[in-house]
Amino acid sequence: MLKVPFLNLLAAHAEQQDQIEKALLRVARAGSYVLGPELEAFEEAFAAYVGSPHCAGVANGLDALRLGLMSKGIGPGDEVIVPSNTYIATWLAVSQCGATPVPVEPLVSTYNIDPEAVRTAITNRTKAIIPVHLYGQPADMDTLNAIAQEHDLFVLEDAAQAHGARYKSRRIGSSGTAAWSFYPSKNLGALGDGGALTTDDSEIADRTLLLRNYGSIVKYENDVQGLNSRLDPIQAAVLQVKLTALDTMISRRQHIAKRYSDAFSAAGLCIPFVPSWADPVWHLYVLRHHDRASFQKRLADSGVGTVIHYPIPPHLQKAYADLGLLRGSFPLAEQFAGEVISLPMCPAQTDEQTHHVIESVLRVA
Ligand SMILES: *Cc1c(COP(=O)(O)O)cnc(C)c1O
Repeated sequence: MLKVPFLNLLAAHAEQQDQIEKALLRVARAGSYVLGPELEAFEEAFAAYVGSPHCAGVANGLDALRLGLMSKGIGPGDEVIVPSNTYIATWLAVSQCGATPVPVEPLVSTYNIDPEAVRTAITNRTKAIIPVHLYGQPADMDTLNAIAQEHDLFVLEDAAQAHGARYKSRRIGSSGTAAWSFYPSKNLGALGDGGALTTDDSEIADRTLLLRNYGSIVKYENDVQGLNSRLDPIQAAVLQVKLTALDTMISRRQHIAKRYSDAFSAAGLCIPFVPSWADPVWHLYVLRHHDRASFQKRLADSGVGTVIHYPIPPHLQKAYADLGLLRGSFPLAEQFAGEVISLPMCPAQTDEQTHHVIESVLRVA
């Protein structure tokens, strides 16, 4: 029986393996292992790719979000609006600054944050909104930015799943401030943890460079109480290589997603909806199924690997018991957590494998 893994990381970068190993050796032989030219070269290349004037490489996506908020002085007493149906990192960044995450429900169509619900959640303590481009599909940024402008709020885009995605033909991150993750399974993934903040605001950029490095620009002079959160030069060197193939990898994902959607829409399944202004990059291809457990099991029985993103919404996690948000408080997030299922999505997936996924889904759905 043909097996289709959910994602095969080694196969995904197989064509670049030699270049990646050369980059690793180059860093090993450089004699300098924190900050420095490899990091700067990647920051410059990623800023150019995104179309943003500034990029700061940091330790991971969570820190990128956290540093984005810290750079605006967000802290205790402040509220930050976040999606109810995101990965918990979006919320943790807010909590770790001492601020309070205020969850808002998604649109049923796109799973991205509902701008009207954002408007309703704004109070006189609200300082920022963190829209997430969930599954690689851009959120409705013009509408969100207009609401933010009206209420003088900072917008920090959680772009951890959306490298290369376009909103109205513009790349995500090409204006405003965006936090990125280079966790290995992300569309642009390192061989370990990594992250970055891009911004068109030079004050935020300067502040982030300071805060990621112990609050220091001149060695042993500490202006503020910063973090140790620098993108490792080994990862920066690997990411330079992988960035050159990002667009190729995205088009392979788009090819797979198109074959899935063509087949599944004809069969009446609940496929991802793509607004006319969105060019998603298919970090994940997510279906919903009313009897997900048995659907997932039957797919596994036919060799098709799937993952749930995510089975428990942040407000129902033990980690957030202190907020006192009970079951039923965010019905859409709860419903989606019970129904979503992510199909195999790997740039190295063959047409034969994609065909097998389609046949299996159509047979057992
Ligand atoms: C992966 C992810 C993060 C966190 O990134 P890390 O690099 O794992 O810290 C944040 N938000 C979203 C939506 C993510 O998918």
